[in-house]
This record gives sequence, structure tokens and C-alpha cells, in this order.
Amino acid sequence: MKLISVAIDGPVGAGKSTVARAAAERMNFIYCDTGALYRAVGLYCKRNGVDMHDPSSIAVAMSDIKLDIRLAEGAQRIYLNGEDVSDEIRLPEISMAASVVSPVPEVRAAILVLERDIAEKNNVIMDGRDIGTVVLPNADVKIFLTAEPEIRAKRRYEELVAKGKDVTFEEVLSDLNQRDYNDSHRAAAPLRQAADAVLADTSGMDLEQSVDLVCGLIKERL
Ligand code: C5P
Repeated sequence: MKLISVAIDGPVGAGKSTVARAAAERMNFIYCDTGALYRAVGLYCKRNGVDMHDPSSIAVAMSDIKLDIRLAEGAQRIYLNGEDVSDEIRLPEISMAASVVSPVPEVRAAILVLERDIAEKNNVIMDGRDIGTVVLPNADVKIFLTAEPEIRAKRRYEELVAKGKDVTFEEVLSDLNQRDYNDSHRAAAPLRQAADAVLADTSGMDLEQSVDLVCGLIKERL
């Protein structure tokens, strides 16, 4: 039986992971959050004092990194050299570290292998920045999920505050704009909407409405 792949790309805080996870659950697909893989590389570099301003040091560090994605009760867990780092990679400073390591071609090449392997074996909803353009150019459905920057920052801010993180709205907005800029302006696999992706703007929508929209688009195209 042919496997189905759905690519969801978009900027920081568009709700990709929350919406994609919920949509995958409804449709009984595997959910793969590819940002977590870049975050794990960022975490390794931070922990090991790798010079983040030097792409060749990051490239060299890649040969000491083994990443694994495992599923536990439907949820994705990320392992860095055998250690479950799924919670630690969510720290705000690791978001920026992920954005710094992600332009390095050696990092992208290693992660690409893992991503394609998952899509070859499962019905998957995969989210990221380059899924529809580079990772799964033949995905059955491609969605570019976005929302106004202030709305995205507000969602991210509320999420972090709910987790007890000490951040201001201005910090979150500035971090989000910086990461979007980095992701859109890098040479390797920049963030952009694939020519055949549907644009979904969730600015005025709550989570339930966004999930309905995405599931509707998927069903319509399958
Ligand atoms: O999606 P998330 O915010 O967790 O991603 C963290 C960072 O990883 C992004 O800012 C981006 O630099 C990078 N990333 C990427 N390609 C992907 C997914 C994430 O470059 N497919």
C-alpha cells in the first residue's frame, strides 16, 4: 500500500507542531517534528563548547553526534547519543542554537537521511522549514502554515509563560523575528513556500479551527 506523506512548513510559532501533532493523531499518521533534530544538534554544540560562529567546527562536531527519533505512546522522543533530550531542547536558548547550526550543510545532510527514512516507512505528517521544498518534494500534501508575527509571538510567549519560563513578550518577538530572518536568508534549504503548497493563515483561528483547516486540506487532496 502506498504511504502518504504530508509536509507542513512555516515560520516560528505558526503553530506547526501543535497543529501537525493533533492532525496526525486524528488521521492516525506518525508525526515528525524535524525542528527537534536541529535543536538536539544545537544542544550538543552548546554543551560541548563548539564555536557557534564557525560553521566548520559545527560540521566537525556532527561526526560525534548520533540522533534517534523514537516513538513512545504516540509521542516523538529525541535521543542525542543515546540520551533522551526531548525536554531540554525546548529551552529558549536552544531555539537560537538550532537556528545557528541549521544553515550548516553537514547538519542538514545528516538530518535529511533520518527524515526521509521516516517518510519511507510510515504515513507521516512532517513539519519544519524545508519539508515541501527539499526533504519530501513529492509529498502528497504540502501546507505552508503561517500567521501574523505578533500573533505568533503572543502564542509562543503564552506557551513559555505557561511552562514557567521567565521571558518578556518583546524578547520572544525579537527572537522570533531573528530566527525567521536567519531561516529565510540562509543558502541551504531556506524557509519558503513550495510552489505547490497551499497557504494556510491561522491568524484569526484557535487551535481547534487550525486543526480542522489542516485536516480538511489533507482530506481534500488525498
Ligand atoms: O521548528 P523549531 O522552532 O523547533 O525549529 C528550530 C530551528 O531549527 C529553526 O529555527 C530552524 O533554524 C531549524 N529548522 C530547519 N529546518 C527544519 C526544521 C527546523 O532549519 N526542517
